[in-house]
Amino acid sequence: MKLTVSRPNRILREAMSPMRDCQRKISRLALWIKGAQKALALTGAGVSTESGIPDFRSPKSGLWKIYDPARVASLSGFLKDPEGFYRFWTARFAAIDRAEPNITHQLLAELETRGFLHGVITQNIDGLHHRAGSQRIFEVHGSYRRGICYGCRETYPIEKVFEQVQKGSVPRCQGCSGLLKPDVVLFGELLPEDFKQAAQTVAEADLLIVLGSSLEVHPAASLVPRAKLHGARIAILNREETSFDSIADLVIHAELGLCMRALREVLAED
Ligand code: NAD
Ligand code: ZN
Repeated sequence: MKLTVSRPNRILREAMSPMRDCQRKISRLALWIKGAQKALALTGAGVSTESGIPDFRSPKSGLWKIYDPARVASLSGFLKDPEGFYRFWTARFAAIDRAEPNITHQLLAELETRGFLHGVITQNIDGLHHRAGSQRIFEVHGSYRRGICYGCRETYPIEKVFEQVQKGSVPRCQGCSGLLKPDVVLFGELLPEDFKQAAQTVAEADLLIVLGSSLEVHPAASLVPRAKLHGARIAILNREETSFDSIADLVIHAELGLCMRALREVLAED
């Protein structure tokens, strides 16, 4: 089936009545997606809130309203107080384990399968793009599925790490007794190889669709001006304003689930 642009059905139009302007923008985005040679998505924590995983910076529900990032998400916090670090992460990993991909993850995977999306660059560590079926994924902040030794860099399945946590001990490497941490990028750590590859790919893109990111975390956010400098169109879909709305070619401030249903509908018919 060919992807083409059509008008959304009546039910969808009613559901979207507060977002009429949004509808025009979704149609424009659909045309851009169809015409792009190399479209990429850049996703943030906002794509997974509808799967029940809280983001960091939403005004009411963001985790930084409750926790101090310097303690639970920084390398120095981890090294200083690994027990406190693991108290925070035990609850977070349980929430991630329970979560299922939502329509945003699913539509991105569908677009890739149909040849309309080159890949997904994600700041998320939750693995939901994998579980939705996306194939080319750049995990620029690592993944919660692995643990890594802070000493010798040996990797472990995350279950092995949490087995030790559940026994009440700080998890340690069997080889060198170094501290084990989840293989996610903490503040103060270098980004993995995936980031270099994402930066290269973004420079060749002609469309970058940013979804659910405040674009406040660098260097991931710098991929947006980088894509722009190399000639890509930038579309930003986020509930709130972001740091790079001013350089975007299209900005939609709305709930992603609603946007994705509209986009899927617009793209679905011949
Ligand atoms: P962020 O918390 O800084 O920003 C998320 C943005 O998404 C906010 O601006 C919010 O308004 C928007 N948003 C939330 N739900 C939305 C929805 N349903 N529809 C539309 N917009 C919505 O997240 P970030 O920019 O990704 O940066 C935070 C860092 O924290 C990243 O490095 C990320 O790795 C990490 N993080 C990851 C997860 C995860 O893996 N699911 C969760 C929390 C934080
Ligand atoms: Zn080790």
